[in-house]
Formats: sequence, C-alpha cells, structure tokens
Amino acid sequence: MRDVTTAQPRTDLDVQPTPLALLLLGREADPTSERGVDCPGDLPSPSDPDLVARARAAKEKLGDKVFVLGHHYQRDEVIQFADVTGDSFKLARDAAARPEAEYIVFCGVHFMAESADILTSDEQKVVLPDLAAGCSMADMATAEQVAECWDVLSEAGVADQVVPVAYMNSSADIKAFTGRHGGTICTSSNAKRALEWAFDQGQDPATTKILFLPDQHLGRNTAVRDLGMSLEDCVVYNPHKPNGGLTAEQLRDARMILWRGHCSVHGRFSLESVEDVRARVPGVNVLVHPECRHEVVAAADLVGSTEYIIKTLEAAPRGSKWAIGTELNLVRRLANRFAAEDKEIVFLDRTVCFCSTMNRIDLPHLVWTLESLAEGNLVNRIEVDEETEDFAKLALERMLALP
Ligand code: SF4
Repeated sequence: MRDVTTAQPRTDLDVQPTPLALLLLGREADPTSERGVDCPGDLPSPSDPDLVARARAAKEKLGDKVFVLGHHYQRDEVIQFADVTGDSFKLARDAAARPEAEYIVFCGVHFMAESADILTSDEQKVVLPDLAAGCSMADMATAEQVAECWDVLSEAGVADQVVPVAYMNSSADIKAFTGRHGGTICTSSNAKRALEWAFDQGQDPATTKILFLPDQHLGRNTAVRDLGMSLEDCVVYNPHKPNGGLTAEQLRDARMILWRGHCSVHGRFSLESVEDVRARVPGVNVLVHPECRHEVVAAADLVGSTEYIIKTLEAAPRGSKWAIGTELNLVRRLANRFAAEDKEIVFLDRTVCFCSTMNRIDLPHLVWTLESLAEGNLVNRIEVDEETEDFAKLALERMLALP
C-alpha cells in the first residue's frame, strides 16, 4: 500500500520545464511519443513558389467536402485558408454544425482534433496536417498518471469527495476519465461556472474538493480570483513524485487539487514582463490569458480567454495602448488589425513566444493534406475509440449544460 503520509509537500508556484521535450521543428521521429511524427507522404518544399496556388486549387477541388478549421494561434500562411477561426471548443462545434463536410482539416493541435472527432458525426473524418502537432500541456497528464492519482486520493480517503474538472486542453483519455468520475470539462471562458457546478456535486459542498487537470494556473487563478479562495486552499499534485508530493493531511485539507501542468507559452510570462512593459509603454493596459502564472494575472489589468482578448480589443477606444499576454501569432495579427484604429498593441514579453507545436502546421503540411484528400487519400486521421469517446462526450455534455 502506498504511504501517503510520508511524502514531502510541494506547493510551489514555480513553472518548471516540461518533462517532455518539445519536438524540434522539422521531420523527425520521436520513439517515446505516442504520436507518430514522420509525415507519411512527400511534403512539398517550403520554398515552392506555388504553395498558395496549390492549396487554393486543392481546396476548390474538394469544395463542400472539406472544412478547414484554424485555431487563433496558427500561422498567417495557414490561417488564410481557414473557413473559420476560433478557440478549440468553438472550432469543434463549428465542425459539428457542418455535417456535409466529410473532411475536417484541423489546423491546431492533437487534443483539439480529438475533441472535434468526439463532437462530429461518425461520417466526418478529422485530419491533423502534422501528427507531431501536440500540446505540451496536454502531454503533462497521461491516463496512467491520472489513474494513479485517483488511487492516491482513494488511499488518502478523499476520492469520494473529489469531483474532477478537466480543461479543454487535455487528451481524450483525460476527458473520458473526467466523465467516468462524474466531472466536467471547462474552457478558459467558463472555468468559474464549471468550478461552481463541481462544488455543488459533492454530498457536502464544504468538504467537496476539485481535482483540476491539467493546467494548475487556470485552476488556481479561477479559484482565487473568481471564487475568492486563498492560495492555501490549493495544493499541487506532482505526478513525478510519490503520492503526488502531498501528504494525506494536505489532501484532506485542500479544496483545489491542482495537477502540476502548465502551458509552455503562457507560463513564460513573468511579473518582470508586466513591470517592464508598464515602464516601456506609459498608460498601457495589461491583458493576459488565465493560463499565465498567478502573480502575472494578479498584476494584470484584465484577464480572459482568447475570445475575451479579441472582444476587449475590438471594444477598446482609439488611442488606447495594450500589452497582451498570449501566443505571438495571435498578438501580431491583432496588432496589425487594429493599427488602423490607432490602437497600440504590443506583446507582453520582449522574447519571442510562439507555440512551437502549433507552428508545426505550416503551408507545406496543409498543401500535402489537401492534395492527398483531393486525390482520395485519407491521411493523418484522428480517431478516438468508442468507449473513450462516450465518456469524454459525457463530460463535454455536462459542460454544455452548465448554468
Ligand atoms: S499554446 Fe499552450 S496550451 Fe495551447 S497548444 Fe500551445 S502549449 Fe498547448
């Protein structure tokens, strides 16, 4: 039996490097990854001057049979071919609303394509142009690790008080675990409502706890900023330590058990970034995503999802100045879009901060995908097995029913 009383507590807020090294851009094989990373076909050269024309021709040939989804963090060269843009949940719903589209080409990352497969019909086939486009945050919580965590909670005598809440940015396996254990999915827009709902599910709301997966920052920021909890109400479960690095007493006292995962992009912003931009740009409004660290969120003027960031900038007065803490492709596009309205938009950090896995989807991969589909070859399909899909859908439906 696992001893949950002797493990060292771990409550630090530090962002540590991801345990899974991000793959370098390019064509490689990673034998430790569950996803294949070799492109199974011949990619066109990035220097091919006809790439744009080829993508356009293949898309035209496919017509209504194809629907291209572009996540906000995708490159411009890819976004230009998107039929819709948005965050991962909006895109999955957009795909489900297009049943005539046999092929859903998801320009985003692996967990997003899985969610689209879960929410679309069996006749629709979801395709990810590069199978190596994963998400380092989603990879920080594997099915085995989360099952072990549940054993730890059971042995500490708290599992029956715990309701799991999984962020949309998680694998289908984690969503299914959440559905199986009576929990819900949340997005960065509805995390507050999801936590309120989850606390209401327990037999006694005073002793109910939430296991929040996999982004510790979104969980902590929502609990503290939106629900008025203290930082002491939150503990961090580290899957790389025995018993998560927590004692049974810590688990019993906690209200929020935060999985030790983070976004490699948003986790890079620091308090110094905020102080630095305020000194550089007098009068600037700092607007950040809730995946940022707690001290960054606490120092910002406004906090919200990518959709909230876009709407806030749309409504901002002429002449206003903004420092945005989210992925650089989106910030650059917004800066260009609003320059004509005399809105000054800068990136929160001085260093470049792209999502390297999102950036794996480039024009050569998109051209190869569209041309393959146009020739009748279904490539890079993402398909979630039936049982996983059923439980993941259950958790997603609970989210859709949130008050
Ligand atoms: S921006 Fe962060 S959460 Fe989004 S795909 Fe990249 S690593 Fe994952």
